[in-house]
Amino acid sequence: MIPVFSYIEQYKSIEDEIMQAISRVFQSGRLILGKEVDAFENNFSDYLGNDTHGVAVNSGTDALVVALMALGIGNGDEVITVANTAVPTVSAIRMTGATPVFCDVESSSALIDISQLENHLTNKTKAVVAVHLYGNVVDIEAIKSVIGNRNIFIVEDCAQAHGATLNGKKVGTLGDVAAFSFYPTKNLGAFGDAGFACSRNKNIVDEMRKVRMYGFDGGYYSMREGINSRMDEVQAAILNIKLEYLPEQIERRRKLAKLYDNLLDEKLGRLSSPTGVNHAYHLYVVKSEKRNQVQQSLLEKGIQTGIHYPYPIHLMSGYHFLGYQTGSLPVTEMLSDKVLSLPMFPELNEDSVSTVCQELNKLL
Ligand SMILES: *Cc1c(COP(=O)(O)O)cnc(C)c1O
Repeated sequence: MIPVFSYIEQYKSIEDEIMQAISRVFQSGRLILGKEVDAFENNFSDYLGNDTHGVAVNSGTDALVVALMALGIGNGDEVITVANTAVPTVSAIRMTGATPVFCDVESSSALIDISQLENHLTNKTKAVVAVHLYGNVVDIEAIKSVIGNRNIFIVEDCAQAHGATLNGKKVGTLGDVAAFSFYPTKNLGAFGDAGFACSRNKNIVDEMRKVRMYGFDGGYYSMREGINSRMDEVQAAILNIKLEYLPEQIERRRKLAKLYDNLLDEKLGRLSSPTGVNHAYHLYVVKSEKRNQVQQSLLEKGIQTGIHYPYPIHLMSGYHFLGYQTGSLPVTEMLSDKVLSLPMFPELNEDSVSTVCQELNKLL
C-alpha cells in the first residue's frame, strides 16, 4: 500500500526529541503562552524573514480570523477569494461577518485568475484572500497592480505553502497579512491543531496579538473585541523541533515532484506556476478527464490518492445562501472533476514514485 500521506516514519525518526520536549513542557508548570510559544513565534518569523513577525494561534482557520479581525474586517464588508480551496478559507471570512465573493481560477495553475479580479471589486471590497494552493504561489505583485491605491488588504492563505517563494521571498511576507496552518498533514505539521498569523506591519501584529486573547493588552482589560485562539505550549515545543527539519523536507518534496514531472506520461494534464515561483509541493496534483476511474484503478493497485477538492465551495449546500449557481465559476467547477493528488510527503521513497507513475501511465 502506498499512502497519499503519512507522518509515522517522520515521527519515529524524531520520537526521542519530541518525547523530551513534551515532558519538559509538562514539568515546566506553564501550559499556555510560555517559553515555547515565545520561541516558536521568533523562530517561525526568522524562518519567513523579510522583517515579518507573527502570533501563534490555535489553527489555520483561526489565523485567518485573527488576521481579518485585526484589519477591522466584519459585517457589511466583502472579501474576494476562490471557491477551489479548503472550506476554512471561506468559513474564516464568514466568522468575521464579512461576505465572501468568489473569483474564478486559471485552469493552467488552479490559482485565482487575476485578470478577472477587477470585475469583482466594489466599494465594499476590503480584502483579497489569495490562496497559495497546493504549495504553488499566487502572483501577489500582479494583485497589487490591480488593486493600485485602493484601500484593499492582501491576505495570504499560506496553509499549503510553507517554504514556497516568489522572486526569492517566502510566502507569508508578500502581502499585508498572512495565515499558516500546522494541521498534521501540512508541510509543517503539529501533533494536533495549530496556526500562525503574521505581518510585516508592527501595528497589525500588535492588533493580532490582542485579538488572539480576548482583546487583552497586558492585564484583564479588553482594548478591543477578541477571541481565544492560543497555540498550546506542547504544540509549540513540537513545532520548534520540527521547524529545524522543514527546509530539507521541502527540498525533498521538490525532488520527488521533479521525479513525477519526469516519469509521468506527457498525456497527463499538469499544473503550471507563475514566473518567479519556487513551488513547495504540499500536494502533487495532476488533471485527468477520467479522474474517478483513474483513482479507483490506482486504489486497486494499492495506491492511495486524494482529491483537492471534489466540491467547489460555492455549490455546497452550506453556502447556497451566497447565491451562486452551477456554471457561475466554470473553471473552478471543471477542475473539481479533474484534479487528482498523488502520494506526496518527504518520507515517500523514489521506488514508490516510480510505481505510481508506471501504474498511472498504463491507465492512459
Ligand atoms: C488547512 C487549510 C486551512 C485551515 O487550516 P486549519 O489548521 O485546518 O484550520 C485554510 N486554508 C487552506 C488552503 C488549508 O489548506
